[in-house]
Amino acid sequence: MTTQAHYDVIIIGTGAGGGTLAHRLAPTGKKILVLERGSFLPREKQNWDTVEVFHHDRYHTQEVWRDQDGQALHPGTGYFVGGNTKVYGGALFRWRDRDFDQVQHQGGISLESPLKYRDFEPYYTQAEALYEVHGQHGLDPTEPQASQDYPFPAIQHEPRIQEIHDALQAKGLHPFYLPLAIKLNEANRHLSSCIRCDTCDGFPCLVNAKADAEINCVRPAVDRAENLTLLTSAKVLRLHTSPSGREVTAVEVDVAGQIQMFSADIVVVSCGAINSAALLLRSANDQHPTGLANSSDQVGRNFMRHQNGAIVGLTKKPNPTQFQKTLAVNDFYWGEAGFDYPMGHVQLLGKVNADMIALDSPKIAGVSFQDREVFASLASHSVDWWLTAEDLPDPNNRVQVKGDKIHLSYKDNNTVAFDRLLHRWTEVLKSIDCGDRFLPCSFYFRKKIPLQGVAHQCGTCRYGEDSQTSVLDINCRTHDVDNLYVVDGSFFPASAAVNPTLTIIANALRVGDHLIDRLR
Ligand SMILES: Cc1cc2nc3c(=O)[nH]c(=O)nc-3n(C[C@H](O)[C@H](O)[C@H](O)COP(=O)(O)OP(=O)(O)OC[C@H]3O[C@@H](n4cnc5c(N)ncnc54)[C@H](O)[C@@H]3O)c2cc1C
Ligand code: SF4
Repeated sequence: MTTQAHYDVIIIGTGAGGGTLAHRLAPTGKKILVLERGSFLPREKQNWDTVEVFHHDRYHTQEVWRDQDGQALHPGTGYFVGGNTKVYGGALFRWRDRDFDQVQHQGGISLESPLKYRDFEPYYTQAEALYEVHGQHGLDPTEPQASQDYPFPAIQHEPRIQEIHDALQAKGLHPFYLPLAIKLNEANRHLSSCIRCDTCDGFPCLVNAKADAEINCVRPAVDRAENLTLLTSAKVLRLHTSPSGREVTAVEVDVAGQIQMFSADIVVVSCGAINSAALLLRSANDQHPTGLANSSDQVGRNFMRHQNGAIVGLTKKPNPTQFQKTLAVNDFYWGEAGFDYPMGHVQLLGKVNADMIALDSPKIAGVSFQDREVFASLASHSVDWWLTAEDLPDPNNRVQVKGDKIHLSYKDNNTVAFDRLLHRWTEVLKSIDCGDRFLPCSFYFRKKIPLQGVAHQCGTCRYGEDSQTSVLDINCRTHDVDNLYVVDGSFFPASAAVNPTLTIIANALRVGDHLIDRLR
């Protein structure tokens, strides 16, 4: 084991939280070490190959976790510079104003955030600039007030999606442009990094045109700042503390098979909500017998991942759309007549293709799995949707570490809201002729995302003012350890029902400002 130099700051993980924080802190001139267990995601033709990406899980970890019954779980998560933003769909939403308040749901209570929308607003604005978000204000009836316009114009709908937009509008709904972090210049396509392709949502971008944590934060920070060192293939195994337990004194790292120790004045854990909790739990010692910073017994608890589901709606009309993920609807976000509880959010998915349908539907109405032509025909007529209802914090939904394995205990909640949203949306689709005429009536694939779908993981080290009920204070410093911070999706006290990443980025910028003050 070798002990290396001392740093001002060590950041562990380079995803939306860690990558953004590294970018924020780099100009301070402080000596910063960034540790990332993965490598750079290879640029290769397979980036855009559905079979490689979705059937062979080419960019997912091979780790096996366990569910509450001890069954093997193959998590849909990857370890690369940029974290899960390398494959994200780039839909970057602000939480609604009320998402920061306590909200009564049909299935329980969504916790109040100690900070409010007004505290996050300036950071949302900065986050949208940093991640080059394309969008248009004034269309989504639930959107909160924004102090500035989006930095880039909205990504326009292709003709079939425009038709659907118009039909939804004619029904009195308020479809709007999905705010997106892709580098598409529609006015000057010959100058555009993004080529507007059909393999974006869930795929890495072969031409580096997604605004992700690697491209927009980590690389510029490494290129411009000599004070920042990035070590890849550097998996942090545990954190060591002083005899008092009040400071982290060493970070133990497996660097490409060799164990090394690093130290810093400030240590930031940004491993993603599940792995951050797991790292704290693995770092138990005499001063922190149940896990580092876990005097409240809250580390790993209140794991949330959204109630997410996908619908492939079949229509008689062909859908030749290439880049489909441009439209969203929030008309049912806070409920509907006769249901005075939040339901959730609807957005288009990236265009589903024949290989994806084959993966999800081993048998469709007696059609054999092998019949690729049928799948191709279905895909060429489908319009594909992603539905999200809020997942409520439940202390029994938790991350644990047993032996060397991550265990995820999780029970669905707020399912009435999700089911109602699913039912309502299918009815809407039928009413605008965007439901099946190709196969017998009401033929939809409805898919609730199973537990291995941890894309929207959050909430395992929530922030709060009370050290008995939260792991982090409002600056995301652990209540128990003075120089230890957690900056990623872990801090969420509630999950809202929009995609989580813009809030993770905004929070990283906010905590970055706090750290800049602290480091002065
Ligand atoms: C297919 C897919 C589509 C998505 N689409 C969207 C979308 O459209 N909009 C949206 O808002 N969100 C989307 N998400 C979610 C989004 O990717 C996450 O919310 C976001 O990346 C979480 O940021 P994070 O910093 O918490 O964690 P991550 O981005 O996962 O980063 C964690 C980092 O820590 C590293 N790490 C983990 N453990 C260790 C360790 N022990 N030592 C060193 N490094 C470690 C990892 O390798 C990784 O780089 C999507 C996710 C997926 C998988
Ligand atoms: S649509 Fe644009 S950003 Fe997305 S993968 Fe294709 S080229 Fe990359």
